[in-house]
Amino acid sequence: MLDDTLTATSFAPDAADAALPDRAQVVVVGGGVAGSSIAYHLAELGITDVLLLERQRIASGTSWHAAGLVARVRGSHPLTELANYGVDLYRGLADETGIDVHFRQTGSLTLAENEGRLTELRYTAAIARHHGIEANLLRPSEVPDVWPLASADGLVGALLQPGDGTVNPGHAALALAKGAHDRGVTIREGVFLTSINTDGRTAVGVRTARGDVEAETVVLACGLWTRDLAATVGVPVALYAAEHVHVSTDPIEGVQDLLPLVRGLDGYFYARHHGGGLMIGAFEPDGRPRPTGSIPEDWAFGEFGPDWEHFAPVRASAERRIPALKDAEFTRFLRAPESFTPDSNFCLGEAAEVRNLYVAAGFNSQGIIYAPGAGRALAGWIREGAPTSDVSEIDVRRFASSQSEERYLHERTKEALGRLYAMHWPNLQATTARDVRRSPLYDRLQVAGACFGELAQWERANWFAPPGVEPVYEYSFGRQNWFPYAAEEHRAAREAVALFDLSSFAKIEVTGADALRLLQHVCTNDVDIEVGRLVYTLFLNRRGGIENDGTVTRLAPDRFLVITPTAAQHRTFEWLRSDGQGMAVTITDVTSASATLAVMGPRSRELLSRLTPADLSNEGFPFFTSKEIQVRHAPALAIRASFVGELGWELYVPTEFAVHAYDAIVEAGADLGLRHAGYHALDSLRMEKGFVHVGHDVGPTDDPFTAGLGHVVKLDKEFVGVEAARAAKESPGPYRLVGLKLEDPEPILLHGESVIADDRVAGTVMSGAYAHTIGAAAGLAMVVTTLLTGDETTAQVDCAGTVVKATLSTRPLYDPTGSRMRA
Ligand SMILES: Cc1cc2nc3c(=O)[nH]c(=O)nc-3n(C[C@H](O)[C@H](O)[C@H](O)COP(=O)(O)OP(=O)(O)OC[C@H]3O[C@@H](n4cnc5c(N)ncnc54)[C@H](O)[C@@H]3O)c2cc1C
Repeated sequence: MLDDTLTATSFAPDAADAALPDRAQVVVVGGGVAGSSIAYHLAELGITDVLLLERQRIASGTSWHAAGLVARVRGSHPLTELANYGVDLYRGLADETGIDVHFRQTGSLTLAENEGRLTELRYTAAIARHHGIEANLLRPSEVPDVWPLASADGLVGALLQPGDGTVNPGHAALALAKGAHDRGVTIREGVFLTSINTDGRTAVGVRTARGDVEAETVVLACGLWTRDLAATVGVPVALYAAEHVHVSTDPIEGVQDLLPLVRGLDGYFYARHHGGGLMIGAFEPDGRPRPTGSIPEDWAFGEFGPDWEHFAPVRASAERRIPALKDAEFTRFLRAPESFTPDSNFCLGEAAEVRNLYVAAGFNSQGIIYAPGAGRALAGWIREGAPTSDVSEIDVRRFASSQSEERYLHERTKEALGRLYAMHWPNLQATTARDVRRSPLYDRLQVAGACFGELAQWERANWFAPPGVEPVYEYSFGRQNWFPYAAEEHRAAREAVALFDLSSFAKIEVTGADALRLLQHVCTNDVDIEVGRLVYTLFLNRRGGIENDGTVTRLAPDRFLVITPTAAQHRTFEWLRSDGQGMAVTITDVTSASATLAVMGPRSRELLSRLTPADLSNEGFPFFTSKEIQVRHAPALAIRASFVGELGWELYVPTEFAVHAYDAIVEAGADLGLRHAGYHALDSLRMEKGFVHVGHDVGPTDDPFTAGLGHVVKLDKEFVGVEAARAAKESPGPYRLVGLKLEDPEPILLHGESVIADDRVAGTVMSGAYAHTIGAAAGLAMVVTTLLTGDETTAQVDCAGTVVKATLSTRPLYDPTGSRMRA
């Protein structure tokens, strides 16, 4: 505990023997900083019939352990919005609630020991600028002015963020609980949740050791215990505990409570003031996962005890940077569990499997930072029944269900802790728990030089190394080593033919008398199409925001194939299952049943004609139609569609025939310039063509018209979100997604860069890549519509501090009429 006043200040929410209400509109389980914040923000929104249950005492789980560092800027715009709000809330919480959260606006100093890190800090500074948050890059010689105890040896720069600070985390949780209580929330401590009551697929309350409570909505904010509790009702939550450590010293001369907190990211440590001395925390690269079963059920204000040996490398790096530590007396060693997730972002939102069951957990040692923003976001989500802010990267539904399996998480968590401080390179791949999920073509692709990247546990070929080149990433913030190879893959797709393995795409079959009815209900596009045709469609939430997209192919009058992105597999299936309740429909996830070989490029027809007797002419096989064909001896469902904007077919080949079809295609394409191509090429191809990636370019708060996808929304039929979509058409929102290209051919775009016009932020680059056909970096940007002056508008982009001239285009940058893919 940061200081011993936690228990002393503890407000008594209610008498220990106070009766447990038998119903509440919302039951929030878990009285840590997250649950307390959710209750607080529900009440803020006027939902006061809330019961907050805590099995021990408020803040007794992980929240009291925290070092209490709070920051305004995070790695993305949506996360920065959450964090920035948090600091503002903490600043006023003492006045509001009477509980002193010990907020100190110390500022923070993040150190860079190499050029890569300094570039990362430049990107951080650019995000700060975007949000009007102060962040100043310092030269090494300026560091001791801000932090006299620090050695500047080996530093190449630093970032000073004056708005950051520290809080007492236990008090922060208590203050939020008190704020909730003051607004009418009922709080019961000492109440153990034993199970979640459901009515089929909907949460209807909770069972506790003191009886049942009915509820319209149940929220699990049970920290590291959330995964096990959610699993009891079939909801996968991908989080797992790891030991987390900070140590404290006796008073050190020169340390006072407004000394900026320091992040020595390259040394995996942080330092902050604490009682006149320093607290040093570790984000070591060899983290120690901790099974939930090894933590007692009655855990309250618990600790595991010291382990100086494991801490030694981090201590050594902290001592190198802060020499005064060598003579300091370490008086306190705190080791306790915190939960981490496979991608280092937390889990928020309504479960895909059980309606009205919400989750807020897995905070990756940033729960104090995020709790206010997460609480506000979840409260809004509960009230509206759909997200009210961009939650794409924290949505609990983003993982494959298999990612919540215990052994997988145990292994991944070894690196999860250190990843928070490790270099955040573009395209950085995890090294643990890999090779879990492979396409049947994996071995063939490996022989062909594939460098694999991981998504939803799938190993997917991101790029192909030519003979003599090792298929290994060399990370940097510039053009990475794969740049020239992906360029060749890109060119092959534009000029000859390229083969992509898209087997990880989610494939869901919907059959039965009500199959059409269900799909008409969830799709924005009209899916009442002829057998053999397909449509591209969006799936909206009830606020009209874009949740998902994909194609729907009609295979028979009562049989459809829905294809959505890899990471959307689980949610697509559950979304259909949920809306299909009570309908005469069978929904089957057939993702594993077939491999997807995409043969794309102007010579794809010529290539495939060598392997199939089917008529592939434009008349015989028009764009956006499908047919069962043979690929040499393999049966395949061929779909004429293209995510790259060229003539091409996606071949859905039964898994056991996949290698045969692959071999046939590779052989037949040898003299046609066929190249293997990976996801980096796919990305650059789709971006210059202006094809949207849901989750990156648009999300659950964007309407289809903002996304430029109004043409796939049939407002004359009824579907989920139609009323909101009609309203969005009537009164267009202030933003529009457009194509963007840099005028200078040298710089690259990642994502998140600010679009600038008249010296003001006018938008954000949502995704970026190098557009090899165009010969410059290009992407999709969300910009204010008032900026757009016609088909093309001139603007600027802030590329981590370098301002580059750019053109915004409301039409695709490449082949605006789409004539090439219809050829
Ligand atoms: C050493 C250390 C340093 C950290 N430093 C920082 C930092 O500087 N900044 C930062 O932002 N974050 C930091 N963190 C992380 C932060 O503490 C957590 O992310 C945050 O406290 C998580 O809050 P929570 O509400 O999700 O979980 P918890 O605080 O664990 O709350 C969950 C609650 O649920 C209750 N519960 C569980 N099961 C049940 C049940 N069956 N019935 C009823 N109640 C139940 C538990 O008793 C517990 O109180 C640190 C963590 C550690 C361990």
